[in-house]
Formats: sequence, structure tokens, C-alpha cells
Amino acid sequence: MELSSLDKAELHVHLEGSVTPETLQEIEPKLSLEEIRSHYRYENFLGFLQSYKWVNLHLKAPEHFGLITRRLLEDLARQGVRYAEVNVSAGVVLWRGMELGPVFDAIALAAQEGPIPVRFIFDAVRQFGLEHVWSVARAAVGLKDRGVVGFGVGGDEAGGPVEQFREVFDYARANGLRLAPHAGETVGPASVWAALECGAERIGHGIRSIEDPVLVAHLRDRNIPLEVSISSNVCTGAVGSLKEHPVRRLYDAGVPIILNTDDPPMFHTTLIKEYEIARDEFGFGEADLRTVAENGFRFAFGPVPGFPFNS
Ligand SMILES: [Zn+2]
Repeated sequence: MELSSLDKAELHVHLEGSVTPETLQEIEPKLSLEEIRSHYRYENFLGFLQSYKWVNLHLKAPEHFGLITRRLLEDLARQGVRYAEVNVSAGVVLWRGMELGPVFDAIALAAQEGPIPVRFIFDAVRQFGLEHVWSVARAAVGLKDRGVVGFGVGGDEAGGPVEQFREVFDYARANGLRLAPHAGETVGPASVWAALECGAERIGHGIRSIEDPVLVAHLRDRNIPLEVSISSNVCTGAVGSLKEHPVRRLYDAGVPIILNTDDPPMFHTTLIKEYEIARDEFGFGEADLRTVAENGFRFAFGPVPGFPFNS
């Protein structure tokens, strides 16, 4: 089976983490490719967050966001992606004091003109605190008629336990948004349980769920998918090595798995490469890969044309 011709969905990719070194140099010509590439390597998760912030700080104008949206969607379409939900670090935009309106206008216009249907998930930075998380949720609700379908929190999991944002999640859900926080990436099962108690419908990463058999059974029985990004977890040190990654054990335990890239050039990967890793390193056969690909449509928050079981 050609993985490029397998219909796939990408449900966990960060717009600002999808900027290739070449595109960043186009935006900021005084940076050399070597310098940019040196920022695309990390010792640990906090090192990655520093680099992610560094890339963000070079996106200075709405047209930069438009450009990176176009490039991302073109790249996904080339890989056989038929539908995408793109995480936008709206929290970082607000934190930088930029106006979110023009930035989102540029993103939405690029999406409208792009080759595949796309919806957006707004991410807040959990360690920036409650008021910040509220501001992102309000912004997401305000833009829900323009393609924002979900709300989540990312950043330093240890520095921002999700339970403190419970009311924000309640507000987002009551206003029609779906919930997909990051959890169980660098912190253990308690973080995933807390996300579920806050109403999470999909879990960003969630790989450390494997440490709690009761949680694994819960995810399976409630049909709650994990957005798994294998290369991301290896690059940030969330897992000690590729071999230790629990994707196969979670899949075999019946937990719905979706494969994603998270921040593809920053983790030196593509969606096709993530499927190849599942196949070559974890023994996912053709039927398994089809199941995983179908999960990307089944668990999408937005309506996916041609996939009736989702809408
Ligand atoms: Zn992520």
C-alpha cells in the first residue's frame, strides 16, 4: 500500500510549528539556514518550547501567518491528507501583544484558498495562567463561525495542571467548542484523568496513559482517542527511545489511535513518515494503518466531506 495514496486526516499539527527552515528564512532573510536548523534541535521538552517560542517571535505580520498556512496545507495535500485540524497558538499571539483579528483573517483566507478543508483549534499556554487561558477561550468562541471548532491547552504540562482551567473548558464547551487539551505527554496518567474530568474529547499525546491500566480501559470503553505523535515524543524526550514508545501497546489494548506530526519540521518528520514508523518499527499492518487513518476522520471535530460517520 502506498501511504501517500491512503486518505489521511491530520488532527494535531501546530501551525507555528510547521514552519520549515526555508520558509522561516524567506520571512527573515537575515537568518542563515544553519542558524535556524540549530534551533530545530533540543535536549528536552523545555528546550523544544524555547525553540517553538523563537520561531513564533519571527512571525511578525499577518501575512507571515498567511504564508505558513498556505505552505502547511499544500504540504499536507501532497501527502494525501484530505482534511486537517490545525492548532493555532492563539495564546502566544495574544501574549506577544499582537492583534489576533488580522492574524486570524490571514490564516482563514489562506485556508479558504487552500487545497483541503481545514478547521482550527485554538491553544492556550497553560503555564501563562488562568486569565490568559480565559482570553484564548473567549477568542476561540468569538471565531467559531469562521472555522474554529476546538479549544485546548498546550505548553509546559508540569507547570499548568489542567484542573485549574475547568471553568474555562465548561465555558468553551457550552459555547459549542470541542475540547482537545494536551495531556499525558510529559506528566503521567493523573494529567489525562484531569483532562477527561474537564471534558476532553480527544487527548493530545496521552501516551503516558499506558502507565495506568484502569485509564487505558477507560479510554477504550469510552472511545476516547489519543493524538499520537511518535517522532515528537522521541525528539522532546517524552519517551526515552523510539523502542520504548507505547503506541503499539495502546493500540493493542483497544485505545483509538490517531497518528499526527505535532510540529513536523521541528521534529524532522512528515505525516507519511509517522505512518512509516508505525509500519516499520511497530508492525502496524495494512488493516491497522487503515484503521488509524480512518480514526482521523471518525474523530474529527469538524464536518468532513465524504465521511458520513463523522458528521
Ligand atoms: Zn501539540
